Amino acid sequence: MRNPKDRINTKTAHSARVYDYILGGKDHYPVDVEAGDAMCRHWPALPVHMRENRRFMHRAGRFLARERGIEQFLDIGTGLPTSPNLHEVVQEITPASHVVYVDNDPIVLAHARALLNSAPEGATAYVDADMQDPESITQSPQFRALLDLDEPVGLMIIGIMHFIRPPADRELVRRLLEPLPSGSYLAMTIGTGDFAPEEVGRVAEEYERQNMPMVLRDHATALSFFDGLELVDPGVIQVHKWWPEADQLGVLDSDIAMYGAVARKP
Ligand code: SAH
Repeated sequence: MRNPKDRINTKTAHSARVYDYILGGKDHYPVDVEAGDAMCRHWPALPVHMRENRRFMHRAGRFLARERGIEQFLDIGTGLPTSPNLHEVVQEITPASHVVYVDNDPIVLAHARALLNSAPEGATAYVDADMQDPESITQSPQFRALLDLDEPVGLMIIGIMHFIRPPADRELVRRLLEPLPSGSYLAMTIGTGDFAPEEVGRVAEEYERQNMPMVLRDHATALSFFDGLELVDPGVIQVHKWWPEADQLGVLDSDIAMYGAVARKP
């Protein structure tokens, strides 16, 4: 296999590394710092927004493990390891949980070892694949080895849909859900300009300038991703308002450009 390090482009900013930089991580390059700083100048709330997206992943994972008894997860667009990662969240509740991580970024691949420190009772695996090719994920040896398709799966699509352009977007989600049995869940966050259109619009322009797609969706479009699924209360809502913890009640709506929801496959 080609060394993932050879695939890392340090000359242009990359979404996973910009996200890592803004969240206070250490796996990024000067170009990412420059891009991240520019984005924060356009919209100083960006770190709050990104943190709340990450916290939605934690709460949705915990909800699925604890309240819905989900013990296996497929996480698309994992990002650079940032503790707690999904397997740490769900294995705290069910140590035997299985988690399959997927990302297409070579730097995430290079750091994937930190995602493979599963609890001994459970298992984790990493797939280097692109969401644009769902079958490369659902037909991967890691998917087949870790996910028992007689049991429900939690499909996590968090903080990635704004990089996936229509019109294929909906179909890609459908193809990821297709092999999963009834009783499986989709947890998803979807970027929106609904609450701070000007500022978020400028961030989107900056991403595009750095050659990263940025798709913002209104509430109706976000909702339509869940057609045919049973939305869990409170439906499609800004991420900080989805079963918030006490300290999230003070978060400003105008600081959050992300809808989130959890839904059951009937
Ligand atoms: N899910 C994490 C990380 C979000 S950052 C969280 O919410 O905290 C977005 C990630 O999606 C990046 O790591 C990026 O590399 C990945 N990504 C973007 N487009 C992708 C694609 N087409 N296929 C797979 N991963 C993708």
